Amino acid sequence: MTTTYDTMTDLHAAMRGCRRCLEQGHAITPGAIFSGQAAAQVMLIGQAPGVTEVEAKRPFNASSGRRLFQWLEQAGWQEDDFRARQYMTAVTKCYPGKDKSGKGDRVPTKTEQALCRPFLAQEIAFVRPRLLILVGGLAIKLLYPANARLQEVIGTAVYFPPAALHNPVQFDLSQGQQLTAFAPAQDGNGRWVVPLPHPSGASLWPNKPANQALINRAIDLLSAIREHGAF
Ligand code: SF4
Repeated sequence: MTTTYDTMTDLHAAMRGCRRCLEQGHAITPGAIFSGQAAAQVMLIGQAPGVTEVEAKRPFNASSGRRLFQWLEQAGWQEDDFRARQYMTAVTKCYPGKDKSGKGDRVPTKTEQALCRPFLAQEIAFVRPRLLILVGGLAIKLLYPANARLQEVIGTAVYFPPAALHNPVQFDLSQGQQLTAFAPAQDGNGRWVVPLPHPSGASLWPNKPANQALINRAIDLLSAIREHGAF
């Protein structure tokens, strides 16, 4: 049974103390990594923390953070301000360890994702973000079909009108409007969702010129949404 927490403080304490994955035999390093409070207007969801994030106890701390914050700074956010005011979390919140291949970190299994999902759902329900930034394939698959290619989704955005947010954890693509350019919402208080590729140096996808153009479109969308929403 999923525990429901009364406050964000209680939720955060439960996340920090969680050992569900370890108890079920998954090789994680316990200690959930996330930052932010319920007052945030923007929520950024990554895949899972890396080892340097565990050491520093903050999301997107090292090289992937440098690239991510380059993109966010191009969209108009300064890193310190973004970290102080917005919410950063991940599909799974504990370090999953190295991949067997030795290249990068292990992708959390579907079971681990399912074990951590109630935490993510409650974070979203507390924050009710006006803008959700999905970073990397695992986070993107929260909303888009499993077979969606990065080339198809990066540079696009989805707008969920207020009526679709009766469920604050809204990931039903059919309830949103997919856009390739910013258009001010007439109804005011809906939620934008913008996907970004994983900024890890282990990923070569962002380096290809055609993909860089898609990232630039995503940055333009983020910039327009940020200015319009004063996030
Ligand atoms: S990844 Fe999530 S569910 Fe698994 S132990 Fe960490 S906080 Fe708990």
